[in-house]
Amino acid sequence: LDPEEFRRLGHQLVDWVADYRAGVADLPVRSEVAPGWVRSQLPAELPEEPRPLDALLAEVDRVVVPGTTHWQHPSFFGYFPANASLTSLLGDMLSTGLGVQGMLWSTSPACTEVEQVLLDGLAGALGLGPEFTFAGGGGGSIQDSASSSALVALLAALHRSSKTRASGEGWRETGVDGTERIYVTAETHSSLAKAVRVAGLGARALRIVDPSPGSLAMSPAALAAALAADAAAGLRPILVCPTVGTTGTGAIDPVRAVAEVAREHGVWVHVDAAWAGVAALCPEFRDLLDGVELVDSFCTNAHKWLLTAFDASLLWVRDATALPGALSITPEYLRNAATDSGDVVDYRDWQVSLGRRFRALKLWTVVHSYGLAGLRAHVREHVALAAAFADRVREDPGFALAVEPSLALVCLRVVTGGGDAADDAASRRVLEHINASGAALLTHTVVDGRYVIRVAIGSMATTKEHVDALWAQLVATAAQVRAEVA
Ligand code: PLP
Repeated sequence: LDPEEFRRLGHQLVDWVADYRAGVADLPVRSEVAPGWVRSQLPAELPEEPRPLDALLAEVDRVVVPGTTHWQHPSFFGYFPANASLTSLLGDMLSTGLGVQGMLWSTSPACTEVEQVLLDGLAGALGLGPEFTFAGGGGGSIQDSASSSALVALLAALHRSSKTRASGEGWRETGVDGTERIYVTAETHSSLAKAVRVAGLGARALRIVDPSPGSLAMSPAALAAALAADAAAGLRPILVCPTVGTTGTGAIDPVRAVAEVAREHGVWVHVDAAWAGVAALCPEFRDLLDGVELVDSFCTNAHKWLLTAFDASLLWVRDATALPGALSITPEYLRNAATDSGDVVDYRDWQVSLGRRFRALKLWTVVHSYGLAGLRAHVREHVALAAAFADRVREDPGFALAVEPSLALVCLRVVTGGGDAADDAASRRVLEHINASGAALLTHTVVDGRYVIRVAIGSMATTKEHVDALWAQLVATAAQVRAEVA
């Protein structure tokens, strides 16, 4: 494809994306295809000869679009949002257009330094404090996912804890020895359990800390007891992960109290704020991160609520040497004068893979086009929509809030008057009906054994009109389900 042909086809593709986004609200949110349908529709043989792009786009329309759940649909209320703003798509095009590998500073200085400047700026905008900036001795990086952020934080924590090993040898030399312990709650995202598995620690390394009474948030007292008991038993507490905005219900672990307890044991504190962290751009939500200046690492995903197409997970550490200390390996072919000078950041040492994309460009494009004020308005709008939606749930005796709303996440259940089991069954059926209708998409969780419908407001195109329509559909569907079981 030469540049002129690219220009022609590029316009065609941009037109396709623009048409898709303009019409996405008219599509069923959830893909309705059966397992195997997409595969059955595609030719098994790969083309031997080149084919025109038009033919590929026709296949996309015929097969891919029906086989797609439309995450950018305004009535997508499932999981957490995956905002892929068109602005970020343009930034992504820039990145792929440049086509650089930013593994080392020397392989493309701008790829590294744009990211450094951007993450230093965002650290300030989120109120993380100067200790998380490069100027302050820490620094940020863009990882592919919050799962990777948690994994590398765990590896850095293992490295830092090496000096507490009886053998005196480091984790980098001998690996783990079965005494390591990691502290989470039952609500912590499964990526922490996966990080524990990937790091070779084994499931027994994972300690589930109880919540404070009447809440789903980590109890600092229970954490203190668990840390003390493990230390007394000769085990080695390595990392505590408080979550700001759990996936199920948006629970907020108390970062300051958790960090104060963890610090007494020299334990690494990694805050997982994958979804909710970006809300700290708004000063009125910044108390969610109270105590963040005490932690070792902090993660939030720009690819969830911050208008940036997957993948862009932002990870800050308060010690810029922590990740390179754990991960840096320098074969001869990567040696270069800039690295040897010690004056540059080589982001390959901050992540698992060697190669890395110029992800900063899409986030930079978003921050520039919206401005911080625009990003705050985006977050505030969804939080306000969720608050109004929660009020309707509170006021209707046919529904109940399962927990108090957290930012833009509302968790509810259907009330039938027939007891818990009937309410759970009705809630499940209402969710299934709504998802099958294609008009909206919801997901669920289970809290204290009870089935809960989650309404995660945050799709870019969602307005009051879509939230009102969801409420009307919930009311009508719940009435229908109650009548079916009566
Ligand atoms: N942590 C929390 C609280 C999440 O909600 C999620 C995903 O929803 C993750 C971690 C994992 O995110 P990622 O897909 O970026 O690994």
